[in-house]
Amino acid sequence: MDSVGAGDSSNSENTITNSSNNYNNTSIATSSSSSAAAPTSSRYENQKRRDWNTFGQYLKNHRPPLSLSRCSGAHVLEFLRYLDQFGKTKVHTQICPFFGHPNPPAPCPCPLRQAWGSLDALIGRLRAAFEEHGGKPEANPFGARAVRLYLREVRELQAKARGISYEKKKRKRPVQQPPPSLPPPPGSI
Ligand SMILES: [Zn+2]
Repeated sequence: MDSVGAGDSSNSENTITNSSNNYNNTSIATSSSSSAAAPTSSRYENQKRRDWNTFGQYLKNHRPPLSLSRCSGAHVLEFLRYLDQFGKTKVHTQICPFFGHPNPPAPCPCPLRQAWGSLDALIGRLRAAFEEHGGKPEANPFGARAVRLYLREVRELQAKARGISYEKKKRKRPVQQPPPSLPPPPGSI
């Protein structure tokens, strides 16, 4: 009788069968509790989403097929090496005369790679995305030791090859030279 709208018993029946052109995302069973896309759609978030999609695409095209749950650090390394073909950073080989030159004066046939900084940032985003998508931290392939070691290796190699130091250097302003000390003008009262 009393139809008080108190009890919010919105029984959501499963009527999801009608989504025709919805490619079957393999059972994302996690209750998508992340209350509808945080307002901070920053560049970082966008980039992270794009990276995650790229990695998903990579898994999809992988031969033999690879699912995220079976993905290990070794697969992540495979992915990183695969990305090198799209790299734009020249990494000189040891026999190149420009080995160690940050700004070579001429072209050389050395390969283009992904810069260490890009890979490092990419792994950071994918690592976060993995856990946001319900992955367990201890099973995070992007946090695997092998990946960490690989990144360190790439950093050292590129630092030598490109003559660039990745040491954390504070961006300090060029030291201002004190103006040449002129003698005080004579006769200043
Ligand atoms: Zn070179």
